[in-house]
Order: sequence, then C-alpha cells, then structure tokens
Amino acid sequence: MQRTQIGIPSLVRIKPGAMARVGVYLARMRASRVALLSSHGLPASILERFVASLSSEGIALVHHTVVEEASYEVATQLAPQLPAHGLALVGLGGGRALDVAKYVAHLASVPYVAVPTSLSNDGFASPSASLTVEGRRRSFGCSLPVGVVVDTAICLEAPTPLWLSGIGDVAAKATAIVDWKLAFHARGEPVDDLAALLSDATVFQLMGRTTRDLEGERLLATALLLNGVAMEMAGSTRPASGSEHLVSHALDRYASRPRLHGLQVGTAAYLVSAFQRGSRERVERLLVGTGFFDAIRADPFVRDEWIDAFRHAPEMKHDFHTVLTGRNDVLDRVAAMLDEDPVLGGCFR
Ligand SMILES: [Zn+2]
Repeated sequence: MQRTQIGIPSLVRIKPGAMARVGVYLARMRASRVALLSSHGLPASILERFVASLSSEGIALVHHTVVEEASYEVATQLAPQLPAHGLALVGLGGGRALDVAKYVAHLASVPYVAVPTSLSNDGFASPSASLTVEGRRRSFGCSLPVGVVVDTAICLEAPTPLWLSGIGDVAAKATAIVDWKLAFHARGEPVDDLAALLSDATVFQLMGRTTRDLEGERLLATALLLNGVAMEMAGSTRPASGSEHLVSHALDRYASRPRLHGLQVGTAAYLVSAFQRGSRERVERLLVGTGFFDAIRADPFVRDEWIDAFRHAPEMKHDFHTVLTGRNDVLDRVAAMLDEDPVLGGCFR
C-alpha cells in the first residue's frame, strides 16, 4: 500500500492561555488578514480575547460570520465571499462552526486554523466535515487544518458532558481498531499499521490520567488531534470509527432525541467491546475512570431505541465489515447487557 502525500497541521498549541496568543501564531504564519467563523452563543469574553490578540499583532479581521447552522448550503454560500491573498480562515468555538469553517477553507483553498473551545469529538482536526444537505447529515472530505490552537483553560470551563463526549470518542478508537483488523482478516481490507498504532496509543495515553484538569484537557485534545491525523494518514475513517460509530449513526437517524456524538459512541464502544477480543478492559477503564456513565445515568438513554440502533447499525455503511457483521446473537446479547450489566446500571430506561 502506497501512502500518498498527506496534509497535517504544522502549528499545534495546546496550553492554558493559548487564546490570547492566536495573533502571535497567525503572524508567524504570515497571515496579515483573517476571516473568522465563530459559534453562535460563544461567550463574548472569548471572542474579545481572540480579537484583541489579532489587534496586538496588527492583523486585520476582514470577515466575521456567526455560524448558526452546519449545512452544506451555508458553507458553499460563504466560500466565494472570502477575500483572497494573505488570508487565513479561523474557526472558533464548537463543532458546528468548526465543521463549516473547515469545509469553507477547503473550498476556498485558504489556510485554516481550528480554535476549538470544547473537546466533544475528533472533528476539529479530522479530514471530513459533517454538514447537512437539505436537512440530512452527510460527511464531506476536506483538508486538515494547518494550525490547531487549543486553550485548555477555556476548554476546562466547557460543560462536563462535552468533556465526557470527547472521552467517549477516544474510547471508541479501541473498538474501531479491533474492527479494522477484523476487516483485514475477514476481507483483506488493508490496514495502515502506523495509523492504527497512533490511534490505539491515544487510548492508552488517556487511560493514564482520567481526571478533568488542565493536564486532562491537554491529553484529551492531543488524543483527538492525533486521531484526526491517523485518519488522514490512512485515507479513511477506519482508525477512528468502527461498529460503535455505526450504532451512533443509527441513533442519529432513528432515536427520538439523539445525544452528543461521544456519549453515544462511548456507550456503544462499551457494548460492542463485549463481542470483540482485546478492547473491553481499556474501554471500561477509561469510561469508568472518568465517570462517563454517571453522566449517562443523569439523563438515561432509551433501552428499546438502542436495541433498534443495533438492528440498523450494519446498514449504516455499505461494505463495511465489523464485529457485528453477519452475527445473529447481537440483539439478544445487547438486550441482556442493557438489563443486567452492572457497569450500565441506571443508564437505560
Ligand atoms: Zn467519532
């Protein structure tokens, strides 16, 4: 297997206070003009810190759009409006604004810098953007950011479920890698060993420190970033996404109230790990250690919707072999776990 040329971030700053220095980093990239796409509802104090950091370096803010909706329509409307030459595009805030910004930068061929203010999934540095087209969610391939700036002090202030969602998305890598290797043995699907190793390593890295503090945020941001890089290296989502993501996609489509991506994939990872060899212990240690399931218990999932999601999961991606492929014991075993597994007690109603 030949690896074609890949584009990965060369500017990475993950530390407390990084927001106040974004201007310095952009100046080093020789960006004299910046277009900004920020999240709807972003606290004014964060926006002010960002704008002040540009001014202090003499960088002009030539465009600012507040993103309310992560749609293909919004992205394709914005791209031609951006001025060219000396421009960098910055995505500031949560997942939606960053997905739009990443895709707009890709369409307009301008360097893109991601500045996430929460770490709820690996989307801030992944090679795809999740956007709706006429209301239906789709994934669009795009370039990775050239820069990623994470102010860990700001991320630490984000609500706890967002942090746990990020943890769940990392736990999902343990089951995704096992699924990828199963697909190799069953169907000869090529595995990019280094991408698999990198992705797998991020789970181990986080298991060593499950407390939510500045260091915990740094480790989570690093893990999610490296998973984005692993996907770019592999040229596929395999390093980051397996059967647990299929279950989450099915919930997004069929559940009455879909929840945060990482809360769904983390829980699904725990469930599918029961069918795999080698992932269970790591998934459980990471999720139990961080108090992940306590957040689920505070707002339990609907049991029958999960059984239904497991029923529909294999249809979610065409030609995608996972541990769930071709088994006829899945629904019974999942139902038994939802009812009896002590770790999941109180997580389903
Ligand atoms: Zn994910």
